[in-house]
Amino acid sequence: MSDAAATADELLAELRARGAILSGHFRLSSGRHSNLFVQKFRILEDPPLVERVARALAAHARALAPTVVVSAAVGGIVLGYEVARQLGTLGIFVEKENGVPALRRGFALDPDDRAFVVEDVVTTGGSVREGLDVVRARGAKTAGVGISVRRAPADFGVPPTALLDLPIESFDPEHCPQCAAHEPITEPGSRFLKSK
Ligand SMILES: [Zn+2]
Repeated sequence: MSDAAATADELLAELRARGAILSGHFRLSSGRHSNLFVQKFRILEDPPLVERVARALAAHARALAPTVVVSAAVGGIVLGYEVARQLGTLGIFVEKENGVPALRRGFALDPDDRAFVVEDVVTTGGSVREGLDVVRARGAKTAGVGISVRRAPADFGVPPTALLDLPIESFDPEHCPQCAAHEPITEPGSRFLKSK
């Protein structure tokens, strides 16, 4: 791959080549179940690939003139950091405090700030919405949302950009056909990062 911004086709090819699209019975971080899982760390473990994915999101973000990049959750820190580096802004992140999404560690936003909220793999968009709520609660503006892999459309009240749309069916546990068939479920492993 070159140093240019990754395209959707290139990201999909990389995910496939790296075995990052897994088949099974998975409990996603959203709590929903799916027979496919995207192991985002096959991207995040490779800095040059992260750089190219971030370049695509940063190119979109520049027109929105953000003053800060906010990773929507701990799992989005790696990508958000690289987007911020390319934009020349600070990069901060939302994490849970007593189970509630918050900015900790002295991270500050003021009313003049325009936050670009970044998340990697998005299924329901719950963490993005939580990140946007944290930004608004601090009185700052939301400039936009950048997502690397979007598994389902979601409405955030601000325009999102997704590098790759990869629609994958997911189910409430009560309506999951694999649960109905008593198939053992896998926790893919990003959940513990988000619940801290
Ligand atoms: Zn299930």
